[in-house]
Amino acid sequence: MTSDTRKNELAYNLEHLTQEIEALSSHAITLVAVSKYSEFTDIKALYELGHRDFGENRIEDLEKKSQLALECGLDEIRWHFIGHIQSNKIKRIARINNLYLIHSIASVKHLMHFNKEAMELKRSLRVCLQFNCSLEKQKDGLDLSIETTNEVKSALNKLSNLSLVGLMTMASHHGKSSQSEITNAFKRLVELRNTHFDQALKLSMGMSGDFHLALKEGSSIIRVGTRIFK
Ligand SMILES: *Cc1c(COP(=O)(O)O)cnc(C)c1O
Repeated sequence: MTSDTRKNELAYNLEHLTQEIEALSSHAITLVAVSKYSEFTDIKALYELGHRDFGENRIEDLEKKSQLALECGLDEIRWHFIGHIQSNKIKRIARINNLYLIHSIASVKHLMHFNKEAMELKRSLRVCLQFNCSLEKQKDGLDLSIETTNEVKSALNKLSNLSLVGLMTMASHHGKSSQSEITNAFKRLVELRNTHFDQALKLSMGMSGDFHLALKEGSSIIRVGTRIFK
């Protein structure tokens, strides 16, 4: 059970965040509530307040929470997988109930693997490509080279069960990056989209600490955990 105080707290956080987002952006923004540190009761409370988009980064948690959502009749929930992807978990990710968007695909091999699963399920999967825009070597994501970009684009042309929805990046690394480094990372993703992809593609960028910078650069999907659930 969620106590009324907790529900009020979540309502307050969501309301303030939504106002902040509206003040910073001129177009509609998708707010993914990143519930990875939260119990299902928090998700249910936010759903009852009208929120629909939730993000998880571990398949084990997503399986548990999506099953609970199904049992509780949260039929309109939209799940976003935002975590690092391992080959041996792809089958399980593709089978999540109400899976809406996979944000974090970072290799041609994984695109092919997801397409194969989608074919078996006789469905289409919505995906984003994750790029490493911070230029830190240890970070997840495709590199920004023209070779890599051409490689993923030609792969996607042949993968008819995947639908490319957008590009994703993570800018800040444990809060260690400066504001200008973060902004530069977001600018690189915008530039990549504008130069090499369909302009209509969405940009999944911005978290609790940097969504205000991401919105300034034209982000369309932000993934916020701490600011909502803290
Ligand atoms: C945890 C996480 C977020 C949300 O982070 P907060 O700082 O809590 O808002 C966003 N994106 C990804 C990929 C994450 O793993």
